[in-house]
Amino acid sequence: MKLLEQKIMAEGKVYPGDVLKVSSFLNHKLDVDFLCQVGEEFYQLFKDCDVNKILTIEASGIGVACLTAHFFHCPVLFAKKAKTTNLSDNVYSAKAHSYTHNTDSIIRVDKDYLAASDRVLILDDFLANGAALTALIELCNQAGATVVGCGAVIEKVYQNGGNRLRAKGIRVESLARIASMSPEDGIKFC
Ligand code: 5GP
Repeated sequence: MKLLEQKIMAEGKVYPGDVLKVSSFLNHKLDVDFLCQVGEEFYQLFKDCDVNKILTIEASGIGVACLTAHFFHCPVLFAKKAKTTNLSDNVYSAKAHSYTHNTDSIIRVDKDYLAASDRVLILDDFLANGAALTALIELCNQAGATVVGCGAVIEKVYQNGGNRLRAKGIRVESLARIASMSPEDGIKFC
């Protein structure tokens, strides 16, 4: 998505540790008009897949998931990272390693909200090593739901998580594909 690449070049900052900061439109302040266009792009890619639910992980996936769901007219379910009092014990759960916090956490969704009849599009803001998407796929597998595919706004292709998932036969689409990045040399797209 050309506009996304332009926005990343204009507003993104590369931090040590392979972290791209795009807090001005995706991760902290949300550019809703722009994210609507991102949502429409995901809709165009997956519109023939009979998606009836979008699954993401809190927090940064939620905005883009909602703006995509607007086009599919379907609900968004987001996996929770903390076991809060308003979440019952009736959950599907999976372990996920957090890329940005470098910690492991258990992500959970209420069993009432994910069913074997669901056709799920999994979305997230970034795809790096693939841990977050893998954990979300695991939740769908536990429910017996069908994963029609995964979408990432930004894929750091050189970290290979996307290609590992594709090698398992999972459809993975990303809207900006970064071939390399470093604070010294900047960002290069595929
Ligand atoms: P993965 O699980 O694929 O290794 O990493 C994806 C998750 O880590 C995403 O949910 C995202 O929040 C976070 N993440 C990975 N790489 C980056 C990055 O370069 N920048 C930001 N802001 N988040 C990232």
